[in-house]
Amino acid sequence: MICACNNCHYLFDAPELPEQCPDCGKWETRLADESEQAEFISRTTIGSDKEEEWI
Ligand SMILES: [Zn+2]
Repeated sequence: MICACNNCHYLFDAPELPEQCPDCGKWETRLADESEQAEFISRTTIGSDKEEEWI
């Protein structure tokens, strides 16, 4: 599932929703909404050959 962080808006894929954001460490994770999921998928497919830049 694709998860998002309410604090830093980090998007990441995880087998289940972690309680803690892997980027900023805040405990404000939630499931990504539809637009965020689409954004995450487009990033991972288009930018697969270069370094990922998150925000
Ligand atoms: Zn975060």
